[in-house]
Amino acid sequence: LAKGNGRNCVRLFDPDDPESDEEGEDIATLLKIAIEQNLISLVYQPIQDLATGRIEAVEALMRLRTIDGKSIAPRQFIPVAERTGAIAELGEWALRTACRELLEELQVPTISVNVSPIQLNLPGFAASVAAILDETGVSGSRLTFEITEGVEMTIRDDVIDCVSELKRLGIRFWLDDFGTGFAGLSWLRLIDFDTVKIDQSFLHDARGEAMLQDIAGLVRNRGSKVLVEGVENRDQLALLRSLGIDLAQGFHLGRPDSALRSRPNLTIWEDAQPILRIV
Ligand code: C2E
Ligand code: MG
Ligand code: MG
Ligand code: MG
Repeated sequence: LAKGNGRNCVRLFDPDDPESDEEGEDIATLLKIAIEQNLISLVYQPIQDLATGRIEAVEALMRLRTIDGKSIAPRQFIPVAERTGAIAELGEWALRTACRELLEELQVPTISVNVSPIQLNLPGFAASVAAILDETGVSGSRLTFEITEGVEMTIRDDVIDCVSELKRLGIRFWLDDFGTGFAGLSWLRLIDFDTVKIDQSFLHDARGEAMLQDIAGLVRNRGSKVLVEGVENRDQLALLRSLGIDLAQGFHLGRPDSALRSRPNLTIWEDAQPILRIV
């Protein structure tokens, strides 16, 4: 991200473009501007319990829109925010917003928020989470934190202490994108995850699919529930049901959407169609 033409506009940071990295440019400031100008928002994607058909949770996903209306994918700006430290403020914003929207508009039992491992490493992170729960009145038991195994970092004792502290607030931990990097197994060794999210790439080719059962077995033997991401069609959903996968998420079940908040609590979904609604 970079500040453009002296105005408070946000455009994509291009490391190969010298103008994009002008002296004094501070990405943290730019992300702050983006927050202040309401250029950042959250959308929510449903997570379905395959045994009951219920939406058990929604995952909060960040969206960044530039002033000229372009949208920037989180894969482009989250790594920048992680490198520059801006993730601290961005992450706080996401958590506070998710908590508020959970109480005000979303009618789901739990909300799942992506938390960068970098945040877990920040001194005072657990305290800042506790403060947000206090301020918004959300109980920690309605929150899960998704930790991506992707970021390369050493998992220090402080991180484990921080996780324990957050667990004492009732927050559950999910391991995200499992199977995409080597760090996943290290995280599994050190932390008990309530649920492990198997990366969507496993559903998207035959060799990956063939591994799903074994990976699910590994996760279950560790005492965690299994969620598979990236369900895009009926056949994939049927496969997950036949494997006894606990939870599923994907475009076939529901796309990330801000409109989700208007859907009532006890809706039973079948192939993304509500089949029963209890109002
Ligand atoms: P993630 O946490 O693994 O989120 C799931 C991503 O998969 C989302 O992409 C979602 O839109 C996409 N997705 C869901 N279902 C399907 C499907 O059926 N097919 C396909 N092809 N894709 C599907 P999105 O929203 O672009 O987010 C990308 C990543 O950015 C997230 O991956 C997460 O790692 C990160 N991210 C997003 N919001 C936040 C945030 O608030 N904080 C942090 N730290 N990271 C975030
Ligand atoms: Mg996630
Ligand atoms: Mg991810
Ligand atoms: Mg994921």
